[in-house]
Amino acid sequence: MNYRHAYHAGNFADVVKHAVLARLVEYLKQKDKAFRVIDTHAGIGLYDLGSEEAGKTGEWRGGIGRLLDATFSPEAAALLKPYLDAVGETDASGELSFYPGSPLVVRRLLRKQDRLSAIELHPQDVQLLKELFAEDFQVRVTELDGWLALGAHLPPKEKRGLVLVDPPFEKEGEFLRLVEGLQRAHRRWPGGIYALWYPIKDRKAVAGFRQALADAGIPKIMDIGFEIRRPSSEPRLDGTGMIVVNPPYTLERELNVLLPALHALLAEEKGSGWSLEWLAGETVSG
Ligand code: SAM
Repeated sequence: MNYRHAYHAGNFADVVKHAVLARLVEYLKQKDKAFRVIDTHAGIGLYDLGSEEAGKTGEWRGGIGRLLDATFSPEAAALLKPYLDAVGETDASGELSFYPGSPLVVRRLLRKQDRLSAIELHPQDVQLLKELFAEDFQVRVTELDGWLALGAHLPPKEKRGLVLVDPPFEKEGEFLRLVEGLQRAHRRWPGGIYALWYPIKDRKAVAGFRQALADAGIPKIMDIGFEIRRPSSEPRLDGTGMIVVNPPYTLERELNVLLPALHALLAEEKGSGWSLEWLAGETVSG
C-alpha cells in the first residue's frame, strides 16, 4: 500500500468528490430517520496543507484553493454551502491550513441520530483516524479491507444511508474490483445509495468500466465525469469520475448547477468538460 492521499488532498478530484458527497448527505437529512454512511477507504480524515507532502505537489491550490475566495451564483453557492462549511474556515490571511478527508466532511454534516463507519486498511492511517474520532460515539473506525466491508457491513441496521468507495487505484484490476464489489454490495443492500470514485486517466479502462456497469443488472446508475484537461498523451489524471447508484431524485438537477460552476473554476484547458449520464435507468440514451 504505497498510495498516500496527503499528496493529493484538496485537489480538484477531492473537491468534486466531496461536494457530491455533501449533496448526498444533505439529501439523507431531509427525513428525521437516522442513516449511516460507510466509507470503505477512508484515509486519515484530516490533511495538513502545510505538510511536506502537500507542499511537494501543491495540488490543493488548483482545487480547494480556487474555491476559497470565488464568487458563485446564488443557486450554486447554496448547493456548495454544506461542503464549504465542512471544509472550515480560512485563517486571518485567507489561507486554509487543513483540508478534511471524506470521513470528516461526512462527520461535520451528520445530525446526532446519524452514524459513520470509517474503514481503512493502512495501519498508520487507521491509527490517525482512530485518534481523530476518539470518543466520538457517532463514528466507528475499523481496520479492515474495505472490499470485505462491502459484504460484511451491509446492510447497516439503520437501513438508510450511503456507501462511499474510494480506492487508491494503485493496483491493476481496480475497475473490475469496483464493479464486482458494487454487485456484491447491491445484492445485499439494493436500497442503499452508493458513490464510487474513479480516475479519468486511462480512457480505454474508463470506457470498459462504464460498459461493465451498464451491463451489471443494477437498475439506477448515474455517471459523473469531470475533466480539467483534454486527453493527455502521457497517462495523467485529466479528470475525476463518480458513479452514483440510486441517486436521490434531486441530484441530477443539483449537479446541472454545481458541475458547470466548479468546472468554470477548476478547468485547466479549454475544450475539457463535464458530463452527467445515466448508465442504467431513468433517461438512458441509445
Ligand atoms: N476517501 C478519502 C477521502 O476522500 O478523503 C481518500 C481515500 S484514498 C483515495 C484511499 C485510501 O484507501 C488510502 O488511505 C489507503 O490507505 C486506503 N486503502 C488502500 N487499500 C485499502 C483497502 N483494501 N481497504 C481499505 N482501505 C484501503
